[in-house]
Amino acid sequence: MTTTTQHPDIKKILADRGLDGSGKDIWTKRLGEITEDEVKWALSRQPGYYVLDRLLMLISPAAENYIEQMSQIAHQLTLQRFGKTVRLYAPLYVSNFCVNGCTYCGFSTNHRFSRIRLTIEQALAEAETIAKEGFKDLLLVSSEDKKFITVDYLAELASKLRPKFSSLSVEIYQMSAKEYAKLFAAGIEGVTLYQETYDRETYRKYHPGGPKADYDYRLSAADSFGQAGMREIGLGALLGLDDWRLETLALAEHAHYLMKRYWKSRVSFSFPRLRPAKDVDSARFNLLSDTNLIQMILALRLCFADAGMTISTREPAYLRDQLVKLGITRMSAGSKTNPGGYSTHADSVGQFEIDDSRSPAQIAAMLKSQGLEPVWKDWDSAFTDA
Ligand code: SF4
Repeated sequence: MTTTTQHPDIKKILADRGLDGSGKDIWTKRLGEITEDEVKWALSRQPGYYVLDRLLMLISPAAENYIEQMSQIAHQLTLQRFGKTVRLYAPLYVSNFCVNGCTYCGFSTNHRFSRIRLTIEQALAEAETIAKEGFKDLLLVSSEDKKFITVDYLAELASKLRPKFSSLSVEIYQMSAKEYAKLFAAGIEGVTLYQETYDRETYRKYHPGGPKADYDYRLSAADSFGQAGMREIGLGALLGLDDWRLETLALAEHAHYLMKRYWKSRVSFSFPRLRPAKDVDSARFNLLSDTNLIQMILALRLCFADAGMTISTREPAYLRDQLVKLGITRMSAGSKTNPGGYSTHADSVGQFEIDDSRSPAQIAAMLKSQGLEPVWKDWDSAFTDA
């Protein structure tokens, strides 16, 4: 339970609560002891209000019998706060070179395949294809390839993309607050970076080498986004590495901490469930069921009324169609997880397999058929229009 000067707060919060894996047995026991009366109590509290104990009740095994009630509250709360809108975005992968050896990822440095980096011109060609589908919200994604995908590369690319896209965000390797500030100045407004797992031991197991092996440094990343003034801070745990219930508790504490400190930024949750990937043994994954994924999303919505919630094409169509009514506010469509996948290098290796392969137009039609408005432009202006 020690602290460092670099990132004392969230590290200490998680250590004090035993949510960095040190209190695993205690939390598991508590979860198993939650009664249905406690779940009913948690459901009777004000929607959108966070207390750790309340979340504990909502994600407990006992709460699995209350998914329907949770769904109704989550639906109403999401309608109140976000209207009948779902933002659509597309990821643009710019490189699959990586110095890290995360054992669940197709881009691991230990895998042998022909790797690709997009030049600025190639990335712009990809973006052009994406823009033609109607997207105005673009997520730039890169593996840890600091030699080529530099801060200057990203800033130059962002400044050239800005006239065409109303919202730009990144999902890239960890940077300093100063570097994030440079991206912000170039027009990038949001950063998502997953802790992957909040359990130190599990983190060590899945990240055997490379700069990413430093758990504490990674835990400090979201503070850097906040300090850089990013409008959107994206958090998530990679679901399938450890017990989803314990990850949810740690994730919520992390979000709560950031909301208090960087109140001008919106904190968003993503729910990346592990998918098969090249040369990855997916039999090792500790995957949660569809019902538990729904439970996790509902529980977080019931505790965080204003949090953005993103679901990607990792998930199957039938599940995504349900989730858009249960708290999700942003979803990807027609995604490619390989650099150049939209136009220039269709056969390059992707990070993982997607499940929902419907086109953006089909996703938009699905949303409309459910009485929802697909929002292609920046969600803020759509919210104002609603
Ligand atoms: S998860 Fe990210 S850092 Fe790890 S190997 Fe894959 S691309 Fe590299």
